Amino acid sequence: MNHRIYYTKPSITALEVGYATDAAQNGWGDHCYEYIHRFEEAFSTHLSVNYAIATSSCTGALHMGMAALGIGHDDEVILADSNWIATAAPIVHLGAKPIFVDILPDTWCIDPEKVEKAITPKTKAIIAVHLYGNLCDMNRLLAIGNKYGIPVIEDAAEAIGSLYHGQRAGSMGIFGVFSFHGSKTLTTGEGGMFVTNDHELYERTLTFSNHGRASSQTKQFWADLVGFKYKISNIQAAIGCAQMERIDDLIAGKKRVFKIYHKGLMDLPGISMNPEPPGTENGFWMPTIVFDTDIGVTRELLQSKLQAEGADARVFFHPLSSLPMFTPVHENKIAYGIPTRAINLPTYHDICSSELKRVIAAVRSIISPNAGIC
Ligand SMILES: *Cc1c(COP(=O)(O)O)cnc(C)c1O
Repeated sequence: MNHRIYYTKPSITALEVGYATDAAQNGWGDHCYEYIHRFEEAFSTHLSVNYAIATSSCTGALHMGMAALGIGHDDEVILADSNWIATAAPIVHLGAKPIFVDILPDTWCIDPEKVEKAITPKTKAIIAVHLYGNLCDMNRLLAIGNKYGIPVIEDAAEAIGSLYHGQRAGSMGIFGVFSFHGSKTLTTGEGGMFVTNDHELYERTLTFSNHGRASSQTKQFWADLVGFKYKISNIQAAIGCAQMERIDDLIAGKKRVFKIYHKGLMDLPGISMNPEPPGTENGFWMPTIVFDTDIGVTRELLQSKLQAEGADARVFFHPLSSLPMFTPVHENKIAYGIPTRAINLPTYHDICSSELKRVIAAVRSIISPNAGIC
């Protein structure tokens, strides 16, 4: 039996180990924020944004950012139905209501037309989630936001390395959030980042991030409001600093893996993969294949073929509205249809060509059991 192929794995080198060791040995007292500030600096430079706040998670960054926008009880926030629960949870925690709308069939990201139809006087924000590295139609979403005076937030947790007409994912909305969970393109184990170009929003979020203590407050141990505690540790930030030095290489790794899958699979009938429309670059966090309905390939079949080859198969996100704590939105036909005939393929920096060949062969065997590999 061949060894198992994990769906994802971080890339940790001597650089990360060295920085983490240094932080553990020396990053205390006067030095306790050094790697954190360096990580924020490196990340904001990479993204070309003015401000960044490192956090313990993307979920926490989103929670604080939405609180800083004043989102609260009875408000509505519009987002795509196809997504991980992390984007919806902080909306609920703030007492607001997530409004799930359908996705586009080609990018699997939020459908701007459905967004506009879902706007009510209670709508306080639109969240653009760049699913699996695929980019939302930011021009249209920002235009809708402008028209109705509603801020557009970017959840770019899956979109490190994705570029939209020269701008990096996460840098275009009122604020952007990122995740450095172990499954993401850049990792600190657990961790996240809040970014914005809006000075006032930055100050408000910074105050929230520090248990309600404003940076201008001179009184010691004085909180002006009830805030949050979603800070990253200096040791995690040290790992993040090393990853930032390797960011171009980490992004290139994701693209390399996707290109090999694309070359090995795209000739199969009725298959689509992550798109890369003109003027954009996809960071390809998760290579994903979706089969047309009439091909008859199911998620279960894909899972069993990949499992038999010892490869992890990650299901396409279930519609959030189908989870037990929400109400199903059956008119989100695309979000409900795609997951039944799609799968995420394994991808990580050090995945080797023989492993990729095994995955490709397993997928190809679904269509023609005797098909060889490229
Ligand atoms: C991973 C992920 C998150 C959550 O990130 P955490 O750091 O685990 O909080 C949020 N949104 C999306 C789209 C994600 O993929």
